Amino acid sequence: MDADLIIIGGGLAGLTTANRALELGLRPIVLEKGKEADYACNSRYSGGLFHVAFKDVTKPVEDIEAAVKASGELIPPHPGSDNVQSIMSEDAAKALAWLRQERGKFIKGGQPEFMRWMLAPPRPRGAGLDWKGRGPDVLLRRLTEALQKAQAAPRLGWRATEPIIENNCLSGVIADGPNGKETIRAPAVVIADGGFQANMELMQHYISPKPEALLQRGGGTGMGDGLRIAKTAGAALIGLDSFYGHLLGRDAIQNPKLWPYPVVDTIARSAILVDQDGQRFTDEGLGGVSMANAVARLADPLSSVVIFDEETWTGVAADNRYPPCMNPVYENAGGKVFSASSLDELALELGINADGLSHTVETWNDAVDTANFSNLSPQRSPQTFKPEPIRNPPFRAIPVIAGITYTMGGIAINRDACALSEVGDRIPGLYAVGSASGGIEGGKSSAYIGGLAKAVITGLRAAESIAKER
Ligand SMILES: Cc1cc2nc3c(=O)[nH]c(=O)nc-3n(C[C@H](O)[C@H](O)[C@H](O)COP(=O)(O)OP(=O)(O)OC[C@H]3O[C@@H](n4cnc5c(N)ncnc54)[C@H](O)[C@@H]3O)c2cc1C
Repeated sequence: MDADLIIIGGGLAGLTTANRALELGLRPIVLEKGKEADYACNSRYSGGLFHVAFKDVTKPVEDIEAAVKASGELIPPHPGSDNVQSIMSEDAAKALAWLRQERGKFIKGGQPEFMRWMLAPPRPRGAGLDWKGRGPDVLLRRLTEALQKAQAAPRLGWRATEPIIENNCLSGVIADGPNGKETIRAPAVVIADGGFQANMELMQHYISPKPEALLQRGGGTGMGDGLRIAKTAGAALIGLDSFYGHLLGRDAIQNPKLWPYPVVDTIARSAILVDQDGQRFTDEGLGGVSMANAVARLADPLSSVVIFDEETWTGVAADNRYPPCMNPVYENAGGKVFSASSLDELALELGINADGLSHTVETWNDAVDTANFSNLSPQRSPQTFKPEPIRNPPFRAIPVIAGITYTMGGIAINRDACALSEVGDRIPGLYAVGSASGGIEGGKSSAYIGGLAKAVITGLRAAESIAKER
C-alpha cells in the first residue's frame, strides 16, 4: 500500500482529514487537481464565518441542535445514516478548538451571532472576490505547511478519476498526474472534492434546466468526480437537488466586481421576487439560499427581478450589520439599480408585465398591512425576515441571477463520514467529507447549516474513524 488513506481534494475538508490523520499516526496522500500552490477552491474563497446553523459554535449543544432542526425540512434520513445531521451540533465547538490548535486565527466579524467566529485576517467589506492573504487562504496554507513538514505535502496537479476495486473491495484510486495515469493504493479513500456545481451535465439533471444561466459563485472546481467514484464503489447519492448559493445582481455576468459579494438576498427577503409576468413564484421569507434554488429551477433562470421601494433601499439594503451592503456597494461597483416614479414605468423599463406587477404589489401590500400572508400564492413565511411594503417611490428593481457556491447533496454517509450503500450498508474503506457528502444540508427549503463547519466536522470524523479501524 502507498498510504493509509488517499484524500481526493485539498480544500478545507481534505486538509482537515489529512492533518488529523497525521496526528493520529496515519500516512495520508492528498490528491489535489489544482496545479498552483494557491489553487482555487471554495474554502480559499470563503467568507470565513465559522458557524453552525448561524449559531455561535461555542453555545450549548442543545441550542445549536435546535437551530439546525429549525433550518428546514431535510430529506428523509438515509438508511444507516443514524441522525448524521446532529454531528454538526455535537462537534461544533470541538471543530473550532481543533482549528485554533492548528493555528487558525479567528476574530469577531460583527454583531450577528453567526459572525462570532470569523477567520482572520478578514476580507474587506467591499464588492468582488478578495481572498489572497485573507483568513481562509491563510488557514489553508497553515494546514498545508503542517503536511509539508511531515513529508505529506498535497500532490498538486493530480485529478482522481476512478476507484480501484479488487475482489469487491475498494483498494485505491486511479488518478491523472503530471506524468499520466497512475494507480495509488490505500485501504481508505476519502472523497473531498467539493461537490458537482461545475459539472453542467449533472447540474442540468439535478439543479436547473439551464445551468449555464447560473453564475459560479466560488472556485468552480467541483466536477462531481467524487460522486462518480463513490457510485462505482457502490455508494448511494442523496439529496442532489439543492445547492448553497445566493441571489446576485445579474450584472455580475459581465462584471466580476459583483460576485461573490454583494448579495441581493437581504433586499429580496424583505420584498418580492417576480417573473416576467410580474408574478411572485417563491416564498421570499425562506431566505436567499432558498430563493437562489427557486430561481435556478425556473425554465428561464434569467427572468426574475427583485422589486422594492425607496424605504427598503435606504433601510434594509443599507443595513450595515450584513456587509457589504447592496446600497451603496452595488452601484458603486457598476451594478444597475432600475428606478422609476411609478410601478408602471418600472415595469416598462424592465420589460415585464405592468398589470401583473401592479396586481402583485397591491396584493403584497395588503398582506403586509394586515399581517395576513396565508392568502398569498405562493405563501410568504413572515417569521424570520420582516416583509416590507412596496409603497414609497421611487420604486426600484434589480434583475437577479442565481449564484451557485456548492451542491448540498452528495454521497450518503453515517456519523463517522463512512459512505453508505442504497440499503445503508457501509462501503468498507470509503468516506466522504465536506461538500462531497450528503444528508447534512438541503431538502425542500435548501437548509444551509454551514459549509466550513461541515468540512471540518466531517473531516475530523473521517480521520478518527479510519484511525480506529486500522
Ligand atoms: C464566496 C464564498 C463564501 C463562503 N463563505 C462561507 C462562510 O462564510 N462560512 C461557511 O461556513 N462557508 C462558506 N462558504 C462555503 C465553504 O467555503 C465551503 O462549504 C467549504 O469550504 C467546502 O470545503 P470542501 O473542502 O468540501 O470543498 P472545496 O474547498 O471546494 O475543495 C475541494 C477541492 O477538491 C479539488 N478536487 C475536485 N475534484 C478533484 C479530483 N477529481 N481530484 C483531485 N482534486 C479534486 C478541488 O480542486 C478543490 O481544491 C463560502 C464559499 C464561497 C465560495
